[in-house]
Amino acid sequence: MTVTIDLLNNDPRRAAAARHPEKAHRPDNEIARKPDWIRVKAPTSRGYLETRALVKANKLVTVCEEAGCPNIGECWEKKHATFMIMGDTCTRACAFCNVATGKPAPLDAAEPESVARAVRDMGLTHSVITSVDRDDLDDGGARHIAETIRAIREASPATTIEVLTPDFLRKDGALEIVVAARPDVFNHNLETVPSNYLTVRPGARYFHSIRLLQRVKELDPSMFTKSGIMVGLGEERNEVLQLMDDLRSADVDFLTIGQYLQPTKKHHPVIAFVTPDEFEAYKTIAYSKGFLLVAASPLTRSSHHAGDDFAKLRAARAAAA
Ligand code: SF4
Repeated sequence: MTVTIDLLNNDPRRAAAARHPEKAHRPDNEIARKPDWIRVKAPTSRGYLETRALVKANKLVTVCEEAGCPNIGECWEKKHATFMIMGDTCTRACAFCNVATGKPAPLDAAEPESVARAVRDMGLTHSVITSVDRDDLDDGGARHIAETIRAIREASPATTIEVLTPDFLRKDGALEIVVAARPDVFNHNLETVPSNYLTVRPGARYFHSIRLLQRVKELDPSMFTKSGIMVGLGEERNEVLQLMDDLRSADVDFLTIGQYLQPTKKHHPVIAFVTPDEFEAYKTIAYSKGFLLVAASPLTRSSHHAGDDFAKLRAARAAAA
């Protein structure tokens, strides 16, 4: 596994430059003080430490740690962790993301089994698997994701599986490989409104992501689809409402909306802290547009409460039938 974090050097600037070489020469963006409504639990509980020990023992990578997720204290205490497969180094360089970027190591063929063992040992009823972007691989890593789904099914047949995938841009046939492995939830995040793509998510294409989600439903109408965005990146309210319509046109079931938080001075600045009332308003509007489920709050992340939300999704579909 490639180690890109300069742990021997306590200088946060050098550590940040090692994780994000493409951002090292960008001007600094001061990190705004968080408002009172964004408060998180310190990660110190016994459950948190046990989850951390399991992750380390199985040599797993989690997006909870790599992305510096603010919910790690709460989630790990309940043994909810989101595994990040295919290494800890991403081939894209999105302006919001704290995952290390660079040239990734070859895939670890034993990883699907390791993840499946951890899912079984943690007794997870619902597992969430995400990955870095692997533009360097012919299939974008689709076969590896499918193998991980199959390994979890075998080791832990009662566990439901949610995948949060890359966009597989220019990887013909990749999406079909993942859908054929039959995850219970297929999640692909739009991240932000289209007008922000060039600055926030420059390697991606908005309509490709919408089409990817739509194609999942075409391939398997029974599969739940899910997408998420961050707000506070300078988007206009009307753009968020248009994005909701675009997702509904693609038959997406579940929308998550959370506040963008700036990981380092080299990342995109927070343009606005969206208030809890504004999140509630987004939630009401999204439900009126027909989503089966909507999670919208400052600390909503796509994998936050994913197990509980999956149960709600199933119940909402059953009620609508
Ligand atoms: S919200 Fe998701 S990424 Fe964050 S700590 Fe919880 S499971 Fe991990």
